[in-house]
Amino acid sequence: MTTSSSATTTLSKSSSSKQRVSYFYQPDVGHFYYGPSHPMKPHRIKMAHHLILTYGLYRQMECYRSHPATPDEMSAFHSEDYIQFLGKVTPDNLRGYGNQMQKFNVGEYTDCPVFDGLYEFTQLYTGASLDGAVKLNRGDCDIAINWSGGLHHAKKSEASGFCYINDIVLAILELLKVHARVLYIDIDVHHGDGVEEAFYCTDRVMTFSLHKYGDFFPGTGHIKDTGAKEGTGFSVNAPLTSGMTDEAYKRIFKPVMDKIMEVFQPGAIVLQCGADSLTGDRLGCFNLSLKGHAECVRYTKSFNVPTLVLGGGGYTIRNVARCWAYETSVCLDVDLPNEIPYNDYFEYYAPDFQLHLTPEQRENMNTEASLESVRVDLLTQLMSLKGAPSVQMAEVPPDFEIIKEDAVAEKERRSTKEDRSGEGMNDGGAEDDTRSDRGKTKDGRGEKREHEAELAG
Ligand SMILES: [Zn+2]
Repeated sequence: MTTSSSATTTLSKSSSSKQRVSYFYQPDVGHFYYGPSHPMKPHRIKMAHHLILTYGLYRQMECYRSHPATPDEMSAFHSEDYIQFLGKVTPDNLRGYGNQMQKFNVGEYTDCPVFDGLYEFTQLYTGASLDGAVKLNRGDCDIAINWSGGLHHAKKSEASGFCYINDIVLAILELLKVHARVLYIDIDVHHGDGVEEAFYCTDRVMTFSLHKYGDFFPGTGHIKDTGAKEGTGFSVNAPLTSGMTDEAYKRIFKPVMDKIMEVFQPGAIVLQCGADSLTGDRLGCFNLSLKGHAECVRYTKSFNVPTLVLGGGGYTIRNVARCWAYETSVCLDVDLPNEIPYNDYFEYYAPDFQLHLTPEQRENMNTEASLESVRVDLLTQLMSLKGAPSVQMAEVPPDFEIIKEDAVAEKERRSTKEDRSGEGMNDGGAEDDTRSDRGKTKDGRGEKREHEAELAG
């Protein structure tokens, strides 16, 4: 591919370049409901969308109504029997699927319930990520955003951690049709295990995940889990602990990103912006402000590489909406006033009705020494790579059409299904985590796991 000197030019950083942004949204995606005590609330995507509209951000980007992903598209990663099962199981017929529910980790004894419209929900969030990848592949935009995507825990034949279909893996596979190398960055508080596992044995995808590690779901993401076979060294894990501050997060993120961009030179980036790493999250334990979280978006954007920006976790939903609206403005290089504009969900932002969050007064359990050790270990890992792999690209396979959406008409849309979930007033409290004990160990240090790659080469 490129020599390192020419690559330095193409990957040069800039702080104020205007990039063309495309935004993908399907108005029904916010109407699905996991269940009364389940912390995952798709409604947060609709809340973020309304903030984006009322801040006027839709005027500065191309807004698209995404297509629902087809079983055929999903089968690029997932097994056929798993996709068929998701397409058939409903809350009314699930008694007939006992064995399969166990096999695919779905149902009431798991954190992945069968709810009304489950399959349609997966089609919507997945289609939007695929549309974003196609738009980037065509060179029609520089940044594509899908806040409904980023479900990083789903496996080839198994649901996991509120995730059923892995839209990220599918979008990366789409990007690999055009780009020799794709970088995946995951700033969710949980390890990006499903994506790492899918590309564990290939050097065409580098995964970089920063996460809480030790006695925490999903239990993977040890610093020594660096990939296997061709992919050795291409899985990058920053295991962290509770109380991460903006300053501490930046001290890992920026130098590691600099080194990754230098040695890996990706043609495209997928950035998973899970908002459960924010301060005050219902399930998370980091202490990041919106600005600290969004600094990762800003910094990634400064490399001027085509980027797919996705959502992910985030369980204090008023803060998830704040975060993703603010990060949309960062993608657009627009300053937002701190006063939340009046919108359909205005009361959620009480009592201050401000955009930005103040971190809590609590100790950062990550010590200077532990942070320095993570930083040095990851830079050492990256420096040992023998440069970026080159790939002979075949003819680009065909993709599909994308339907453009009129965002203003969208704003006027009123749904009859609205508010059937009634969430938002009770977010807070770790007892709300319905996830299994996976990743919890007696000594509280987590486990280092060997994992099989689902996709090689
Ligand atoms: Zn998460």
